[in-house]
Amino acid sequence: MESNPTVGERFRIVIIGAGFAGLGMAIRLKQAGIDDFVILERAADVGGTWRDNSYPGCAVDVQSHLYSFSFAPNPDWTHVYSPQAEIWAYIKRVSAAHGVLGHVRYSHEVIGGDWDESAQRWEVRTTAGAFDAQFVISGMGPLSNPVPPDIPGLETFTGHRFHSARWDHDHDLTGERVAVIGTGSSAAQFIPEIQPKVGRLLVFQRTPGWTFPRMNRRISGLERAIYRRLPLVQRAVRGRQYLYRELVGFMVQHPGLIEPISKARMRKQVKDPELRAKLTPDYRMGCKRIIVTDDFHPALTKPNVSVITSPITEIRPTSIVTADGAEHEIDTLILGTGFQVMPVADPLTGRDGVALAKRWSLRREAYLGTTVAGYPNYFMLVGPNTATGHTSVLLYLEAQLEYIKQALRHMDRVGASLLDVRPETQSAYNRDVQARLASSVWTEGGCRSWYLDPDGGTSVLWPGHTGAFRKALRRFDPADYEVVTPAAEPVTV
Ligand SMILES: Cc1cc2nc3c(=O)[nH]c(=O)nc-3n(C[C@H](O)[C@H](O)[C@H](O)COP(=O)(O)OP(=O)(O)OC[C@H]3O[C@@H](n4cnc5c(N)ncnc54)[C@H](O)[C@@H]3O)c2cc1C
Repeated sequence: MESNPTVGERFRIVIIGAGFAGLGMAIRLKQAGIDDFVILERAADVGGTWRDNSYPGCAVDVQSHLYSFSFAPNPDWTHVYSPQAEIWAYIKRVSAAHGVLGHVRYSHEVIGGDWDESAQRWEVRTTAGAFDAQFVISGMGPLSNPVPPDIPGLETFTGHRFHSARWDHDHDLTGERVAVIGTGSSAAQFIPEIQPKVGRLLVFQRTPGWTFPRMNRRISGLERAIYRRLPLVQRAVRGRQYLYRELVGFMVQHPGLIEPISKARMRKQVKDPELRAKLTPDYRMGCKRIIVTDDFHPALTKPNVSVITSPITEIRPTSIVTADGAEHEIDTLILGTGFQVMPVADPLTGRDGVALAKRWSLRREAYLGTTVAGYPNYFMLVGPNTATGHTSVLLYLEAQLEYIKQALRHMDRVGASLLDVRPETQSAYNRDVQARLASSVWTEGGCRSWYLDPDGGTSVLWPGHTGAFRKALRRFDPADYEVVTPAAEPVTV
């Protein structure tokens, strides 16, 4: 590594983000004998999603044995769906064990990156200095930037206000009049936790979500001891969970199979027909992200809770005003309003000087969710059409890690300095993906969701089953790419 403040510190690889993706990539590089990389992280710690979302009740909604790295099974998960603190600790533990924490530069927010065609390298700018690298690998996260709602007067509110992804643990909600805006997966987890302690809870709902049973339970000491001694048993459990999730994925595309389960449970949990009507979706199950929960609807039936469906028209210093003319006085406002979707490439400009964010303003397009034509030597983790509504994102991520390793290995073998996916390959791939998505529940299910692009397609979700994605990425094919040689600085893999 060389250091020169005018051109930036020089590394072979810059990884952006220290969540599951960036750290997973670092671990895989390290295992392949590649050490010349740096991880640029804007926060003061690693962990990404599981560092930032510490709201009460925050937990994974895919079984923990499946929501772990396949190469780092954790026999000690305490619950089938383990809580945030355990997942965060797992990320730190695995990263430390693989020796990648020393590569992280904290408080380094990437604010720009330009491809230098003559040097065939990236210049990366951060809030704490510049970097120069042959490769950039982005693990900036699909849901890492919380978004406040666009409601007039939000800034005039003088009570206490925070987003669920930036929970204020110093603020005591006991006895308060609390408003929650949003009823997605995060709100469904924290509402049952705060409901018993607040005085009054006003839940502002724009669109109700379909729910699906979670059936969480503690994993007993005996089970954990078995997993520690007999790792094959744990692998078998993971395999069973994988198959169960694929079955859920199949059912999501055939909503008629699962809607009756959800409706029957709602009839049991919500006796009041008026409330049940408010909570009943008018679109097909699976169209929006399904809320995996057992206690969300029961919490909404409690006497101190009101579900308000009249649209919010204005926020005032101490109240929320709705379209029906009502003014609701509150002390604290909690925003469960979600995230900017897939900011994975926002700061980068490619060969033609165009920022990827601009190129993607209508539709995000990549090849295998990993590379983008015109942005050479750049790889994205959890990029377009790699997300899933039914199983662990990490299954998709791990396929990408292997694919990128193969790409680097190929470049090393042929002594290449540049790798750029062919535009026609990328277009053909996206035509195929969009054609398959055109008849999916996400585009045809009659809802508006964060899965959808402005033109009604989706560049978020993978259309098929998980195995198909893994198969598509199993073998790096150099014919898909423009590969420029001779190499300036070949990667040693
Ligand atoms: C509340 C919540 C619950 C979820 N539950 C599930 C679940 O049950 N199952 C599932 O499969 N997925 C779930 N997800 C999706 C989850 O985001 C992914 O599973 C996974 O954590 C993504 O890892 P990542 O490393 O790609 O992104 P992140 O974990 O978001 O990490 C991205 C990192 O990049 C950093 N970063 C971002 N921009 C910059 C920049 N410009 N410069 C420097 N650093 C930057 C961030 O600070 C962060 O540390 C959930 C997401 C949320 C928000």
